[in-house]
Amino acid sequence: MSISFYSLGAAEEVTGSKHIIDIDGEQYLVDCGAFQGSRAESDRKNRNLGFDVSKIAAAILTHGHLDHCGLLPMLPRNGYQGSIYATPASRDIASLIMLDSANIQFHDAEYLRKQAQKRGEKFTWQPVFEEQDAIQATNQCVGFSYRRPFLVGDGVQVEFFDAGHILGSAMALFTVKKSGTRILCSGDLGRPGKPIIKDPDTDIPAPDYLVLESTYGDRLHDNTDDALKKLAAVTLRAVKTRGRILIPSFAIERTQELVYYFHILLDQGIIPGNKCSSFF
Ligand SMILES: [Zn+2]
Repeated sequence: MSISFYSLGAAEEVTGSKHIIDIDGEQYLVDCGAFQGSRAESDRKNRNLGFDVSKIAAAILTHGHLDHCGLLPMLPRNGYQGSIYATPASRDIASLIMLDSANIQFHDAEYLRKQAQKRGEKFTWQPVFEEQDAIQATNQCVGFSYRRPFLVGDGVQVEFFDAGHILGSAMALFTVKKSGTRILCSGDLGRPGKPIIKDPDTDIPAPDYLVLESTYGDRLHDNTDDALKKLAAVTLRAVKTRGRILIPSFAIERTQELVYYFHILLDQGIIPGNKCSSFF
């Protein structure tokens, strides 16, 4: 038996997660994320998947962030008719993200076409994928809840465990039945004690191989109390100076946490409610 693992994105860089586990010639794709960066680099990397779609036996999605699900529509666009396995919540979130991405690309094309016309240049750029590809990818998604093992190929089982990152986020545990070999792909991992999302599962069968997300691996996070104090201080300063607060934040997960923290500060009377309404 031979098992190979290789990464086609999110290795020595952030975003664009695409990994393949090859088990005796059967290829299993773990995530198919969009690369996010400059327009030219993103276009080059996202247009070229870097693997032969016809060789993929099954696709597994760890969670619905764009950098993990954003290129799933490229699978049916390139002829893939197999299943994309995800938790039910990841399927729902990924569906929205993929459609949103198709919509943004459509409007980008319109904008760039007009710009080219103004310059009198020929315009040839096309979106990487379109709405119908996103709908087709969603239709190919099969939902499995946490701790419900399922077969993705001949003698290859996958089981999802809660990764505690965003709603529906999962670690995918592959088990090769013949040898008992276990490979755990963590996807993006959350940290314990977050306000809305459950803590990551820890009682997972010990894997033989662990593929681990490490974006913040060399940093210590502030604890929640410190973050709340900082948020309160910034808010009160803005109230005092009648200023505005601009917060760059991931739309899925971080923004919900921020709203939640603002509610805590309001409920505890730490920030004044009537003067803060314009912040939301
Ligand atoms: Zn993520």
